[in-house]
Amino acid sequence: MKALHIVAGPPLYTNTFLLIGENGLAAAIDPAADAQRYEELLDEHGARLTHILLTHGHYDHVAAVEALREATGACVVMSEADARGGRLFPFVSPDRDYSDDETIPVDSDLSFRVICTPGHSAGSVCLLCGSLLFSGDTLFAGGIGRTDLECGEGDSMRHSLAKLLSTVPGDPQVLPGHGDFSTLSRERAQNPYLQEFIEQ
Ligand SMILES: [Zn+2]
Repeated sequence: MKALHIVAGPPLYTNTFLLIGENGLAAAIDPAADAQRYEELLDEHGARLTHILLTHGHYDHVAAVEALREATGACVVMSEADARGGRLFPFVSPDRDYSDDETIPVDSDLSFRVICTPGHSAGSVCLLCGSLLFSGDTLFAGGIGRTDLECGEGDSMRHSLAKLLSTVPGDPQVLPGHGDFSTLSRERAQNPYLQEFIEQ
């Protein structure tokens, strides 16, 4: 499995990802850069996009979704709770919803476990792929996502962070929707927003 990192442009520099399995089946996470960049990478690796997985529905994570779906026929998965419409949640037509703790198989060596983590938005999820945790705007290196936007909810966020710490096994790399990458052990040790959930 190959994991490629594509940064969408200013002003928010969203981290987006293209994961390609050993048989050339691929998933895009939060495709927000130009659709052409994903298509070029797919061509370069002889890969076929079968899934577009959205960590949440905010506008800075979904810009290339319609164009990529059109070009590839990939199945778009997003929480229905984020299919709201409006400026903040512009994408409204996922092919299907997530269910908590399901596994989405993409290729023989590529699958995603879904962990529903509402708080930053009602439909936010984290996606665990082997030793990679795509944490969207829920968990950042040294921080957490805002909960003061439309449909954000502080109590849900606290519950979701506690759930992440108790359900994610091992020490995956943490790949957030913005900013630096980290590891779960580093966040457990240093992220001030997680300290209240860690048993001393
Ligand atoms: Zn967001």
